[in-house]
Amino acid sequence: MDIKVSRPIDREKWLMYLGVKGQPDERLSGELDRAEKVLLQEARIKGIYRVLPREDVKTSGFSVAKHLEGCHKVAVMAVTLGIGVDNLIRNKQITDMAFAVILDCGASLLIESACDAFEKEIRESVGDFTTSRFSPGYGDYPLEHQEDVLRYTDASRKIGINATDNCLLVPRKSVTALIGIADHPVTGRLATCGECVLREKCTLRKEGKHCGD
Ligand code: SF4
Repeated sequence: MDIKVSRPIDREKWLMYLGVKGQPDERLSGELDRAEKVLLQEARIKGIYRVLPREDVKTSGFSVAKHLEGCHKVAVMAVTLGIGVDNLIRNKQITDMAFAVILDCGASLLIESACDAFEKEIRESVGDFTTSRFSPGYGDYPLEHQEDVLRYTDASRKIGINATDNCLLVPRKSVTALIGIADHPVTGRLATCGECVLREKCTLRKEGKHCGD
């Protein structure tokens, strides 16, 4: 399924990812405009999902089990910007590293926006009570489960996402996730930093913030 991202890439977050404080100067603003234009040109944003009984979705770890507590079904989802964005960034890394970094941060924000839009579509179509999405590699939910989500959704064949031997997704700007579905209100539960595998390198945690803020 093609995904439409209604708003452009969030400039405030983009600057934050780039480590820029305050307003960008004219040159950087121009670079962001140029990067946004090429990213939107190259991205072929696609997503796929499937609703399965909770017991058919293999998970491991405390944090995802808590997140899905009370859910009898799970929507398994996969979203990608497509291989064109990977190629664009890789080519720029050879000729213009600074612009490649801008593109890479912008693409990370674009895939998050695509996931938000797709999550909204899934929530509307399942009609029940749902949790937020939860991805392998977050909390203590092992990255190895990316492969399960790809298999459940047939994402490799249908939208061209594959996993490498060390569980990274190709195209690189792709996401897999689970959304819990229940017949009563559920909030899900975000991981705590203490149980999160990202805690040693997480910049948010170092700044005293949390990804759920
Ligand atoms: S803030 Fe960082 S370390 Fe803490 S739970 Fe979120 S991603 Fe993990």
